[in-house]
Amino acid sequence: MLNIVLFGPPGAGKGTQATKLVAKYNLVHLSTGDIFRANIKGETELGVLAKQYIDKGDLVPDEVTIKMLESEVEKNGDAEGFIFDGFPRTTFQAESLETFLSNKRTEITVMLALDVAEDELVKRILNRAKDSGRADDADESIIRNRIEVYNTQTAVVANFYAAKDKFKKIDGIGSIDEISERLYNAIEK
Ligand code: AMP
Repeated sequence: MLNIVLFGPPGAGKGTQATKLVAKYNLVHLSTGDIFRANIKGETELGVLAKQYIDKGDLVPDEVTIKMLESEVEKNGDAEGFIFDGFPRTTFQAESLETFLSNKRTEITVMLALDVAEDELVKRILNRAKDSGRADDADESIIRNRIEVYNTQTAVVANFYAAKDKFKKIDGIGSIDEISERLYNAIEK
């Protein structure tokens, strides 16, 4: 199986690149943010809970997020591999994913981390807000909080994969196709 963690701060281009990787490698795309938003739209119990955190730009609690992610993996028993987009966002999530996958006799192949400078992230997210309809994209103070949460809670997850020699940093500045090429090269090397 090819199991990729697509990593990087909010606005780094994870969603855009995940779509391209899915098509090229025949993977199942699991975006925790997208799954939460679908639950918010459907007004499920999970959606109501997640919304309180997402609207502020804070992380949804680990326990809830991990349970949801695991159930999505279970739903895709015949997948050739997964792209985890927006997960894991804490070291605890990374450890839980490792245990969960190892029980399924598989593992993360590689973490690909899109590297983009902070000012560029804010610009990209505000621009995306015009179409995304996401409240957490439209307010600069919430965007700054999401980046702060990334810096304080999520960035360390890279160390977890670096320690296993599975971490690859990818320059996230350039055209969509240029960045995809860098990702393909990193996967195939
Ligand atoms: P995203 O679409 O990846 O930018 O995620 C949007 C929001 O969903 C985040 O700001 C968090 O509030 C929540 N979220 C997404 N993934 C996770 C995760 N792995 N752990 C906790 N919260 C998450």
